[in-house]
Amino acid sequence: MQRSLFIIKPDAVKRNLIGRILSYMEAADLTVVGLRMVDMTMEVAAGFYKVHEGKEFYDKLVEYMSSGRSVVVVLEGEDAINRIRKICGATDPSKADEGTIRAAFGISITMNSVHASDSTESAGQEVPYFFPDLG
Ligand code: ATP
Ligand code: MG
Repeated sequence: MQRSLFIIKPDAVKRNLIGRILSYMEAADLTVVGLRMVDMTMEVAAGFYKVHEGKEFYDKLVEYMSSGRSVVVVLEGEDAINRIRKICGATDPSKADEGTIRAAFGISITMNSVHASDSTESAGQEVPYFFPDLG
């Protein structure tokens, strides 16, 4: 069993897609073990994506992630990390496979609707960032 941090980003929350996006996870037998809505400050968004600090898209990413409410979710399941990344699809929605969340709902490479931990190491940092009790 693995845990992963999953985020429904501001563009998707604003378009009332929380339920539809979570359905992809429940349909894949991934269990919600933590969930809350957060209105990230620039500081919280910057800390979350610190690994990308210095990249040309970083400032835009931080601004976008603090532009509205997100839903942060901890999902649990077998091989959860890799399976969730597959269900999300490629970072750039125009390159995401059909049937993925980003192909269905993503607007642009920045406004790509969802985040998912990319390794056990990042999940180990990202889960307690928003859920100190679930670390
Ligand atoms: P995430 O970490 O959000 O799950 P990812 O792992 O697919 O996405 P990363 O390379 O970690 O992609 O980038 C983090 C986020 O930064 C992306 O989801 C996207 O919103 C934004 N981003 C990444 N690359 C670019 C880019 N070239 N131009 C603009 N925004 C980008
Ligand atoms: Mg990433």
